[in-house]
Amino acid sequence: MKTQHVVVVGGGLIGLSTAYALLRDGHRVTIIDRDRLGSGAAKGNAGELTPQQVGPLASPHTAKDIIRGVFTRTSYLSIEPLQLPRLALFGLGFLRASGATRSARGAAALAQFSGEILPSLQRMAADGIDVSGGGDGYLMTSSVEAELQAAHASYRRRAEKGWGEAPGAILRGTQLADQEPALASGVAAGFMLPGEFSLDPITFVESLIAHLKTNGAEIREGLTAERLGDGASVVCRAFDGSKTTIRGDKLVLAAGAWTTPILRKSRVRSAPVVSGKGYSFTVPVEQMPNTLVHSMDRHCVAIPMHGRLRIVGMMEFGSHPEHLNRQKLEVLTRAASGVISGADWQNRTEEWVGARPMTADGMPLLGAIPNRHEVLVAAGHNMHGLSLGPVTGEVLADLVAGREPVVAGKPLDLRPFAINR
Ligand SMILES: Cc1cc2nc3c(=O)[nH]c(=O)nc-3n(C[C@H](O)[C@H](O)[C@H](O)COP(=O)(O)OP(=O)(O)OC[C@H]3O[C@@H](n4cnc5c(N)ncnc54)[C@H](O)[C@@H]3O)c2cc1C
Repeated sequence: MKTQHVVVVGGGLIGLSTAYALLRDGHRVTIIDRDRLGSGAAKGNAGELTPQQVGPLASPHTAKDIIRGVFTRTSYLSIEPLQLPRLALFGLGFLRASGATRSARGAAALAQFSGEILPSLQRMAADGIDVSGGGDGYLMTSSVEAELQAAHASYRRRAEKGWGEAPGAILRGTQLADQEPALASGVAAGFMLPGEFSLDPITFVESLIAHLKTNGAEIREGLTAERLGDGASVVCRAFDGSKTTIRGDKLVLAAGAWTTPILRKSRVRSAPVVSGKGYSFTVPVEQMPNTLVHSMDRHCVAIPMHGRLRIVGMMEFGSHPEHLNRQKLEVLTRAASGVISGADWQNRTEEWVGARPMTADGMPLLGAIPNRHEVLVAAGHNMHGLSLGPVTGEVLADLVAGREPVVAGKPLDLRPFAINR
């Protein structure tokens, strides 16, 4: 295979995973980041890799939530009213994607990756990347009976199609308390999803960066990509305001929630990627949960991570991706206090906000820009950039090499992920 110089714009979960797969293929790689590598949504997230749960956010159920999100400040999902004009097109696209047929089509498109999420991570682990800190199996909980039954049935159906492992039996009362003694008393029921995995994204990202450096990646931090140049080049601005053009044989644009402005400035028409902010913090607990606990009705996740408990949740569409809204941390704390007992909620540390790169239909943008085969986009991985990072990197390496991407033994249908859909 011909060795190429590939410029990767964005050193987040997708850019780093892509750089990893490209180096493994023997290419020369330059990674550009406007800040430090891993400074976007890469490290403060929930650390979940979810063959079962990888799917679009838009569904008949969340359509109601997105409308409610405009009017309430205490919901897990919120939209800043002032941002409504800017988000109108995205909102309409989201509502369109929420219909039963379209959301099922979206689920099938993303399920193409399900069987390769953990194997691609294991290939990284075999190469020395640190995937520790979490473990196998999630406890899914809900006190809303209809929601619990619907989720259980949906995971059973997915497993029958080969999209992840089947859920365990529904647990209640002492069975539930035995499974997870750290649950708050109001949690009525739950079931295990044994095939999901979690890790500590801080140690994962740091070891991935160390691996890339050891294996010869060129790192250019503090360079903001402004627009594409000609061929496989990108025009960047440094901290001191000076401009520089970085050029390769191929270019991969992986700037997460910040991707759309770069494409717009480059006059490339694309499905918009908008920021859906999420929050996390660490909290001291009397008793660490045995596994990750995902509360479906309270919309939050409690994750044991290298001996500390991280709480994650919220979806806030609106203002600047970097802005931490303290009110949202309070809403998340209230939600989590109904899930986990014995936590010292006043002593939160590592408070963090991150921007999920959201698309209206939940599909990432993957592939070459039309008529510019030397420029590829890998962005818009929604809530699944860690799950999909390692396999996305392998798909991008295939595309750079001119190979047809094969995922879990089948040719990948890239049409749902077209840049200008
Ligand atoms: C609260 C929360 C919890 C989450 N939990 C999970 C989870 O459990 N599992 C999961 O799979 N996913 C999860 N996600 C989603 C996941 O974090 C994202 O999908 C993922 O980070 C997207 O990767 P990315 O590389 O596209 O973007 P990022 O990781 O955000 O990286 C983008 C990078 O691009 C850089 N950049 C931006 N603009 C420019 C520019 N102009 N020039 C150069 N560089 C630029 C940024 O500095 C950044 O380093 C969660 C997200 C949040 C917020």
